[in-house]
Amino acid sequence: MTQEKPIWHNFNVVVLAGGVGGAKLADGVARLVAPERLTIVVNTGDDFEHLGLKICPDLDTVMYTLAGVANPETGWGRAQESWRVMTEVAHLGGPDWFRLGDLDLATHLVRTHLLRQGERLTAVTRHLCQKFNISPAILPMSDQSAPTMIETDDAVLSFQDWFVAQRWQPSVRRVRLPEDVRASGAVARALELADLVLLAPSNPFVSIDPILNVYPVREMIMDIPRAVVAVTPIIGGQAVKGPAAKMMQELGMPVTATAVAAYYGDLIDGFVYDTRDEHTVTELPVAGLATDTWMKDVPDRIRLAQEVLDFAARLATE
Ligand code: GDP
Repeated sequence: MTQEKPIWHNFNVVVLAGGVGGAKLADGVARLVAPERLTIVVNTGDDFEHLGLKICPDLDTVMYTLAGVANPETGWGRAQESWRVMTEVAHLGGPDWFRLGDLDLATHLVRTHLLRQGERLTAVTRHLCQKFNISPAILPMSDQSAPTMIETDDAVLSFQDWFVAQRWQPSVRRVRLPEDVRASGAVARALELADLVLLAPSNPFVSIDPILNVYPVREMIMDIPRAVVAVTPIIGGQAVKGPAAKMMQELGMPVTATAVAAYYGDLIDGFVYDTRDEHTVTELPVAGLATDTWMKDVPDRIRLAQEVLDFAARLATE
């Protein structure tokens, strides 16, 4: 018996993703959509240099997750990791506030080596993905550096200083995104051909906004003739992980799924929120879909991805 193909089977899909939440949805989508039809555009606003190495935390989380080698407990780094190098770095009085495991270090060494040879980050990421047997395209949002800065009450901090060193405790006044950062040709081509754009359940301010800020990503998404759908990072008035809820409060927004939808505004055609929030979701500015959005395991990722794709395809073909 042949199974009926979903309406989106011949659609080109672009997923915008940060780290943990983004990687989980991207993994679900990658298990359903043909690799040649899927592009995952990843935030590089968190990238920085540490111990002389170029670190791209969100690219690595997406890459490790799709390769099936991510550490499920931490949400970052590799599974079955060892820490011999880091232990010795600490012993030698080196900086150990940003933890880099032995296997993870290999990624940063090879990436840094190839970048120093003059390769662009897009090409380096393609090389690493090939080695990890990842078929869909994972693209950095830009080949230029685009550091996200966090303006707190007392200082302007680099992202990793605020996020890791200070454990996102200093209250956020504003997120500063750089001007004049341009998308790579590969990102522009993927958006040009996109039928569906999915904003993953990532932090809107420090994962999705930095991607939208890259010229001309926002402008191109506004022009997509088919559907743009966002998935909530807020469940039951809280972030599953990380500072999204705390930031919403500090930026003067209600900590609700509706506020996330309103924040994306007319960029999106549809919004997927959690059934736990059904009672709070009022006056959604776009079409809504309520479902269980908490991805605790791989079957959850696939189920949510399927529902999001079906919903977006319905909106696109209406
Ligand atoms: P980061 O760069 O590692 O912080 O990762 P992201 O920005 O991609 O993801 C962090 C956001 O994803 C947080 O706001 C979480 O609330 C959200 N998130 C993480 N896991 C899930 C999940 O399973 N479901 C939903 N709906 N949101 C999630």
